[in-house]
Amino acid sequence: MNKKLSKRVNEMTTSATLAMAAKARELKEAGKDIISLSLGEPDFAIPDFIKESAIQAINDNYHAYPPVDGYTELKQAIIKKFKRDNNLDYTPAQIVVSTGAKQSLANIAMVLLNEGDEVILPGPYWVSYSDITRLSGGIPVVIPSNIETDFKISPQQLESAITPKTKMILFSSPCNPSGSVYSKEELRALADVLSKYPDIIVVSDEIYEHINFIGEHASMAQFEDMYDRTVVVNGVSKAFSMTGWRIGYIGAPEWIARACNKIQGQITSGANCIAQRATITALENPPSKIQYMIDAFKERRTLILNLLNDIPGFSCNQPQGAFYVFPDISSYFGKELKGTKINNASDLSLYLLEHANVATVTGEAFGDPNCIRLSYAASTEEITEAIRRIKEAVI
Ligand code: PMP
Ligand code: GLU
Repeated sequence: MNKKLSKRVNEMTTSATLAMAAKARELKEAGKDIISLSLGEPDFAIPDFIKESAIQAINDNYHAYPPVDGYTELKQAIIKKFKRDNNLDYTPAQIVVSTGAKQSLANIAMVLLNEGDEVILPGPYWVSYSDITRLSGGIPVVIPSNIETDFKISPQQLESAITPKTKMILFSSPCNPSGSVYSKEELRALADVLSKYPDIIVVSDEIYEHINFIGEHASMAQFEDMYDRTVVVNGVSKAFSMTGWRIGYIGAPEWIARACNKIQGQITSGANCIAQRATITALENPPSKIQYMIDAFKERRTLILNLLNDIPGFSCNQPQGAFYVFPDISSYFGKELKGTKINNASDLSLYLLEHANVATVTGEAFGDPNCIRLSYAASTEEITEAIRRIKEAVI
């Protein structure tokens, strides 16, 4: 706590995913043989057809400030993508392109939340949701779930979390960190509850849409009665391995999109012009172009689950999407491992970094103190060696 800093930032926590990744990088640079399963970042190269369009954009002299809410051609590509992949109809005024889905989420929170508004976060939730909520004056209301319900919440739980102060519900499906995917029927059951509370806005983070092993992606916005109150968040970081290129986007009710455009115009302006041009190419191509990455993630999922299930005390759900496993490791709490007392998930995560040289992220950062998260966006060799080391360190 530094009194010279704002209350706002003093009350904020550092992103646990980025902090662990930075720590792993630091240790590696100091010569330690660290395997990082901390950051959710595809390890594939960006496909050549996307790289080529970025190079073309540079040679075509794209350099000037782009429109705040994105190039018209990119908005058209996003509209076509929404229609092709999700059967959703949007007009250009409903689309806002941002510097990553993270900025899209921050825009939404800033334009919708007033001091004291409650935001329902089905847990486990993605690490930044709670701090983005708090930074915007909102109060996170976490609905807990666990491995028995495949880390999904029930309509009854949703109903009991709603109060007159509830402003929005924010969740990801496929879910980071649990990999759970809500089916259309499950989403409908949640929508049936929400239909009684027409003022609640749904923020549906679908950034892992294509990294889905069951082949069926459903969105709350597809229900006619929910369309006008749902903001769909998506981006190219995960599906196209474009994490560092920083492009995210929303399809939203027009009044929300306009407000996001306004706020972005005062904070960052339009997203990077070269990355926007490359994103047009990425989205215009059919998802089959990136199927090789999904196939590889699926194989890695099988590998990591098999290896983890062989470690006593690690119990995993079967993730249906994204590229994370989220084992419940609470059976270690209260025990000693090589002289170190493990009281919680953070203790185990730090223990693994120190004694197995493997970086993971504590479940506490995702609102679930019984679990740790491992990203399997890593090579099969790294995964195999990392889990071998973990096993050796805990038995
Ligand atoms: N939502 C979820 C669920 C994520 O895992 C991430 C991680 N990057 C983001 C949003 C932010 O993505 P971006 O790189 O587009 O900012
Ligand atoms: N979304 C990724 C993760 O959860 C990237 C890190 C981040 O943006 O926080 O690891």
